[in-house]
Amino acid sequence: MARPAASAPASGGEAFSPACAIPAHRGSDRRERRSSASGKNRRGPCNLGRGALEHLRHGRSSPGTRRGDVDGRLDPSAGSFDLIMRIPATIATDQPVLIFGGPYGNLEATRAVLDDARRLDIPPERIVCTGDVVAYCADPVATIDVIRESAIHVVMGNCEESLASGAGDCGCGFEPGSSCDRLSAAWYAFADGLVDADRRAWMANLPRRIDIVLGGIRLAVVHGGLNDINVFNFATTPAAAKLAELSAAGVDGIVGGHCGLPFTQSIEGFLWHNPGVVGLPANDGTPRVWYSILTPSASGLRIAHRALEYGHAGAAAKMRAAGLPEGYADALEQGLWPSCDVLPAAECAARGVPLEAGEILCRPQWRAVALDPARDPRVEHHWPDSHGRPGARGTAKFEDPAWTAAGEPRAEVALTALRTLWVNTGTLCNIECRNCYIESSPRNDRLAYFRLDDLRDYLDEIDRLRAPTDEIGFTGGEPFMNPDFLAMIELCLSRSFRVLVLTNAMRPMRRLEKELLSVVRRLGGILLMRVSLDHYTRERHDEERGLGAFDAAIDGLKWLARSGLTVSVAGRSIGTESDAEARLGYARLFAKHGLPIDPADPAALVIFPEMDGTRDVPEISEGCWSRLGMSPDSVMCASSRMVVKRRGSERPAVVACTLLPYDEAFEIGGTLAAASGPVRLNHPNCAQFCVLGGASCSGH
Ligand code: SF4
Repeated sequence: MARPAASAPASGGEAFSPACAIPAHRGSDRRERRSSASGKNRRGPCNLGRGALEHLRHGRSSPGTRRGDVDGRLDPSAGSFDLIMRIPATIATDQPVLIFGGPYGNLEATRAVLDDARRLDIPPERIVCTGDVVAYCADPVATIDVIRESAIHVVMGNCEESLASGAGDCGCGFEPGSSCDRLSAAWYAFADGLVDADRRAWMANLPRRIDIVLGGIRLAVVHGGLNDINVFNFATTPAAAKLAELSAAGVDGIVGGHCGLPFTQSIEGFLWHNPGVVGLPANDGTPRVWYSILTPSASGLRIAHRALEYGHAGAAAKMRAAGLPEGYADALEQGLWPSCDVLPAAECAARGVPLEAGEILCRPQWRAVALDPARDPRVEHHWPDSHGRPGARGTAKFEDPAWTAAGEPRAEVALTALRTLWVNTGTLCNIECRNCYIESSPRNDRLAYFRLDDLRDYLDEIDRLRAPTDEIGFTGGEPFMNPDFLAMIELCLSRSFRVLVLTNAMRPMRRLEKELLSVVRRLGGILLMRVSLDHYTRERHDEERGLGAFDAAIDGLKWLARSGLTVSVAGRSIGTESDAEARLGYARLFAKHGLPIDPADPAALVIFPEMDGTRDVPEISEGCWSRLGMSPDSVMCASSRMVVKRRGSERPAVVACTLLPYDEAFEIGGTLAAASGPVRLNHPNCAQFCVLGGASCSGH
């Protein structure tokens, strides 16, 4: 009986569909902004409700929302106003977009970044500034004018909001009496005295959010956060707070400014990017300032964090001449901020560590299954790494999870749909094969027996998630050594899963013949028995598995076939033998023993590539997919996961695949929901077995 179809979770493709409607923007209240800096309005632990989770997964619009015009003003032609929400300006392109933040009245730096854009042939309509055109530096008026004349897009910063409304301070939300508060009072008074009504009116009309749709990936560009213009979102700001913003924004990612430090990270597969600012260095001990270029590509979004050198000495001299705070003039030259009041501990510790420009490849992709509100969101820091470097290039192969030794972005595989859940029943085996990739033996219990209750929990989770899983695969060790094994088969069949068992068909299985047949006859369903037969000759098979193993396996195969069970064989490509030669050899063997197995059917006779741990294996980079004409979706970890129970562990864990049960880098969660993120192909097996070997353990 086929398992009833479950509704599929959002696929990777859905992740890129643009959100349809955007929530209205709350006006920012001064008292509220004040409390933001003291941390009072920073978000607590993630507390996303069911609706928010749905929104995260599907990016759905609220019913009754309509499009307004690009600046968020109402469009009378769109219909009755009560149905119209403020929709952000939208830039849709598949060309590179340049983003920078905080010109801060630094005319030299502003001109330099716009010059770079011209050199790179990026027109104004593909340039976005994240706000704070005016702040610490000496040329507020000229900088506003250069920005306005350039006709680039600008998001309102808190400095624009304050100047436009005639507020008494910059609205950065610094703690009263802190160094930042005192220093900002000086430059704010300076700018406030120079900026005229026309320029303030321009500021007042700036949008608080601009959306960019880059090759189908939708990003919301804001100043501080989605709701609070002056919230500081640093790389180490709790991810739950950012996830709540992402949830509300209904986009694949947020580009924010305000905090002054560039970074890129993903949170549960959503992107958070800060291009940095051009008006002040990044507190890294160099006078360089930062901006980004975002380029859509077939494999995702390329984000280049670029350092900009400009005439910082001239800008600093003008600040001193204007009597502005020495600390900031000094910062332009030394690259160190005069105060770290607002910085979290990690950012503070990185003060003076020079950043290295770098390019990363991101694929915003929200998780295909429900998030677990009880756990912290998963964060991946893409740039800079903990040392301020984009990646440890020039290192040995398989060392850096994000980069190959050749400095290319490492390939990764997204889970498109969990079709097969593998269960490792434990590594104990009745025999010890010479080349067992998992080193099973009568003594190896590194993976303990997986228990019936453990399995029940995961099957329940599959149901809860409405995952499209239709196959449960069992591998070991030898699964029939696990005392719960028959009960686990029974559980899976009773829940209408197709069951695939990898066995050596030797004594552990034979001693349970009667019980196995009884389960199958009672429950029906699909039970596929795949028997390992390393070679079709007795000599080669026994060489791998020990004397007598071949005859025992053939006997077991014949019994399975006689009993009416569906049998298949897992062979190995040994030495220089071609696939065709191997299939011919197995064909003769099957015919000789009357085994009902089609040797030409790759699902009935699976021939796995040889795994040679001594071979120098190439790494798989993002570029390999197109070079090999291959899709990441065809790789085993795109549609399966394996659950294991480590010796001494109380709880099972989910690993990426059957091939890597021990490597902790491939242990990707405790629940299926937590393990639904992409897998980086940072292991020789990924190349040898899956990508170049083209193999998969699954029965699909
Ligand atoms: S070895 Fe595992 S993680 Fe690596 S590509 Fe294959 S299935 Fe994915």
